[in-house]
Amino acid sequence: MLCVETNRLLHGYLDGELDLASALALEDHLRECAACRERFTGQQALRSAVTGKARYHAAPAGLRQALRTRLAAEGRTRIPAWLQPWPATAMAAAALLIAVTAWVTVHQPPAPTQVAQAPAERKLVYHVNSSDDVATAFRNLSNLLDAAPRTRVVVVAHNSGVDFLISGARDKAGDPYQPAVAQLKSRGVDFRICGNTLGRRNIQADRVIPEAVLVPSGIVEIARLQAEEGYSYIKL
Ligand SMILES: [Zn+2]
Repeated sequence: MLCVETNRLLHGYLDGELDLASALALEDHLRECAACRERFTGQQALRSAVTGKARYHAAPAGLRQALRTRLAAEGRTRIPAWLQPWPATAMAAAALLIAVTAWVTVHQPPAPTQVAQAPAERKLVYHVNSSDDVATAFRNLSNLLDAAPRTRVVVVAHNSGVDFLISGARDKAGDPYQPAVAQLKSRGVDFRICGNTLGRRNIQADRVIPEAVLVPSGIVEIARLQAEEGYSYIKL
């Protein structure tokens, strides 16, 4: 299997949707190819971060039974007047019909609370401390926002990870980073750059692209976002 094919099938593989032959061929390729393996582990980490940390609201255990009982009770009291003179068998049939309707209503997936509430906002802080594969990470981030648009993302750059936020920086393919940063920023992603790193590496603050915000310390910012604002940590 080639890299391009692996890339195309990776999402299907992670979702367990590939046939056995394709899955085995993909696994063989992942064993041999470090680049694809890295992409795979990145995707895997993203997925578990997004799905694992999501706060879904499950219906309380007793709710279904309570609803069923109440619906059944209301159903019996709401038998229309024209049914009253009917014989007992018709009454029983009507009551049964109402009970079945109530049962079906209560058993309709998804649970009522999941429909009524918007999904909780997910908050992710991405720690970038190397410039190695920022371009790939950006593609992953963009895919993540396609799949989960309500995800709140802050990218904190620190150490050699600050390079992509310096004016004129380009990726390995020679493409400038700034348009990709601006694009992600327009989708709500915040970029924060470590002031300590800039000082240590003698990079003037005016060389930082305008999309990034300078914070005194990248590490302190990451710790603060987790402790005070409920962000989940992801290492890029
Ligand atoms: Zn490959």
